[in-house]
Amino acid sequence: MNVSCPHCQVRLSIHPSQAGSVVACPKCAGKFQLPIPTAYTGHSNPGSMHSVPNEVQAFASKKVAAGVCGTLLGAFGVHKFILGMNTSGAIMLAVSIFGACLYVPTFAMMIIGLIEGIIYISKPDEDFYQTYAIQKKEWF
Ligand SMILES: [Zn+2]
Repeated sequence: MNVSCPHCQVRLSIHPSQAGSVVACPKCAGKFQLPIPTAYTGHSNPGSMHSVPNEVQAFASKKVAAGVCGTLLGAFGVHKFILGMNTSGAIMLAVSIFGACLYVPTFAMMIIGLIEGIIYISKPDEDFYQTYAIQKKEWF
């Protein structure tokens, strides 16, 4: 890269690794700081331009609601109805209602809901969409 000395305006060829460091001009011996090329400062970050598809965003917006319902109301399968898993949601609800007199089945559904809720919340949006919208994974 080429820079010009701010003191005597002579054109100097410098190595890119010297960018940002203070050098002495070989002609007039004046000291000056070499400019830092914009490519090295990290101002342009193409990764920040990455946009999540609307479909993923729409589905991922249910993630927290489903996760919270799973942890709090897991036994009733509410979190599964939110995500459109009506069959497994109905199974959880039925087991909880009909198993309520025995306590254990309802308790088991509560635990499953709790674990599923935590899994939902801890998954990244893209991953959550892949697992529950594309693969339609019904349990865990
Ligand atoms: Zn100079």
